[in-house]
Amino acid sequence: MRRLQWSKQKLKEYQEKRLRAVLRHAYDSVPFYHEKFRRAGVSPSDVKSLEDLTKLPITRKDELTQADPSKLISREYTMDKLKILRTSGSTGKPFKFYISPSEDDWRKSIYLRANISCGQKTRDRWVVVTSPHHFIDTTDLQRKLARAHIRIFAQECVSLFKKIDEQVKLISQAKPNILDGYTGSLYLIAKEVAQIGLKTICPRIVFGTADFVDFSARRYIENTFHAPFYDQFGCAEVDRTAWQCPEKVGYHMDVDSVITQFVDERGEEVSDGERGEIIYTSLFNYAHPFIRYSTEDIGMPMRDECSCHRRLPLMKLVEGRRDSFLILPDGRLLSPMSFWTVMRYFEHADEIDSFRVIQKKIESLEVYVKTRNSLTPLETLERTLVGHIRRCLQIDESSLDVQVDFVKEIPVDRSGRLRSVICELPNLPKIS
Ligand SMILES: [Zn+2]
Repeated sequence: MRRLQWSKQKLKEYQEKRLRAVLRHAYDSVPFYHEKFRRAGVSPSDVKSLEDLTKLPITRKDELTQADPSKLISREYTMDKLKILRTSGSTGKPFKFYISPSEDDWRKSIYLRANISCGQKTRDRWVVVTSPHHFIDTTDLQRKLARAHIRIFAQECVSLFKKIDEQVKLISQAKPNILDGYTGSLYLIAKEVAQIGLKTICPRIVFGTADFVDFSARRYIENTFHAPFYDQFGCAEVDRTAWQCPEKVGYHMDVDSVITQFVDERGEEVSDGERGEIIYTSLFNYAHPFIRYSTEDIGMPMRDECSCHRRLPLMKLVEGRRDSFLILPDGRLLSPMSFWTVMRYFEHADEIDSFRVIQKKIESLEVYVKTRNSLTPLETLERTLVGHIRRCLQIDESSLDVQVDFVKEIPVDRSGRLRSVICELPNLPKIS
């Protein structure tokens, strides 16, 4: 929390010290980065300041998915002691990566800093609407805390795959002070709450994770729950990277854990107020470093100072679109993040290079899949994927037809982006 008040100069010195350390570590112990730096003709000693960072080449997701996983992990770590995580798959290219237990703790403490800054208190009832795949950690933690009769930042989870009325019932029973989750899911919950006129869910604060939803959806959530909504942004690989404080001038960047750059097509940093591709360099991922890593998201650095006086610099996000929502035959709306989660936890996720789901008819989903190093026969892959999607979405064969097509390449969409969830229904789902 102290670092929120540091001067610009002190923050920069801290970043540069940690940057030099992580670059030296990656070069010395991670074969992938060692080779990459050498090919580019740079060594860690060439990067002394933040300005020098652009000397290093950008790392694309494709390079990481195609690399031998053992070359991505530092020789100082043993794989079986690391925790496996998976990327969200926003661009339809999920892959797994590894973090150490101490890195995991660091992520959690940095994560709480934003929530506390926005007013969350240790004993607040905190309800998170998320995928059941994320429950295990939380319940384990909750159990430990409960044994010690402590409820400190204890989370209660509600599955985003449950029917919306069930989600609302569970949230209402939990009486949250803090409501948290993917923005798309929270929006759907707010719609249901407004429609049935429920008055029993009264959070003091709502936190949403950027889910490519437009501003009107966020306003709708605030109006429904009569509580401020604060958005948070990031990606699984380097965790949260930016967040809104109560002033909402922009998003404060967690620059003491991740250096965020915004670059143009030539890889050069854009000026304040200009759009650029977001490039992350993590200062805490040592087991599986992410250096000059592109998530293919677009953002904008801001020169403005925030009136909250927190010194972490600001950025702006580029908003998403409503044609990324799917609608199921029983009327449930599915945010893109929800579908990414489905794909992320597929038992053969490692064999999927990239995917795209397109909905042209209400009763069917077309799933295009490009495989990689797949040893599983395609018929088995198809059958298990269809079954997995149906199970996650809790929908049977007669109601939803899921077609899986294996393709050589997933082309960019009409907007030139590699979106993984596209709704092409004649009437787009009403999300705002
Ligand atoms: Zn602020």
